[in-house]
Amino acid sequence: MPPVFPAVTANSIQELAEKVGLDVEAFTQTIDEYNAAVQPGNFDHTELDQVHTKGLEVNKTNWARRIDTPPFYAYSLKPGITFTYLGVEVNKNAQMRMSDGKLAKNLFAAGEIMAGNVLGQGYLAGIGMTIGNVFGRIAGSEAADYAINN
Ligand SMILES: Cc1cc2nc3c(=O)[nH]c(=O)nc-3n(C[C@H](O)[C@H](O)[C@H](O)COP(=O)(O)OP(=O)(O)OC[C@H]3O[C@@H](n4cnc5c(N)ncnc54)[C@H](O)[C@@H]3O)c2cc1C
Repeated sequence: MPPVFPAVTANSIQELAEKVGLDVEAFTQTIDEYNAAVQPGNFDHTELDQVHTKGLEVNKTNWARRIDTPPFYAYSLKPGITFTYLGVEVNKNAQMRMSDGKLAKNLFAAGEIMAGNVLGQGYLAGIGMTIGNVFGRIAGSEAADYAINN
């Protein structure tokens, strides 16, 4: 997939380590060890091709290819929480249920914080945005109703 942000690019492993601020010696050694551990085989990304590494603490079991052909690319990764499956409980009007079991009259929730109400288990592509949109509209409308009528 095309990346959202451009990669850091270098023509050598050393240069790449320098550009991303890694210890050059440790990084080079890690790549060298990995490359030496890659076993020969017929690489095929369309199936589990068994092309693996041997002798590493954590071996790659498929699609192991040597990292030896420039240009080399580095991407920074950051973790994110897609769904906690926890948060607040709401009813169908996005009204929050409080710890005494009663529905709050003027507290509504939408989106990630109440996604667990919809997602008992599993995940459908796009459901995060859908929950946010659908319950955002309901919560907004209910909150406006409450503000007008009280
Ligand atoms: C990596 C990743 C990939 C995803 N991919 C998909 C996907 O492909 N399709 C899909 O449908 N869903 C996807 N999701 C899920 C979806 O992004 C979330 O469910 C959705 O963004 C939640 O929206 P939200 O408005 O409820 O919460 P958020 O987007 O988390 O918004 C909450 C906001 O509140 C702010 N905030 C927090 N505390 C305070 C405070 N005290 N005061 C003021 N502001 C505060 C935060 O800064 C944040 O801006 C993905 C999530 C992640 C992490």
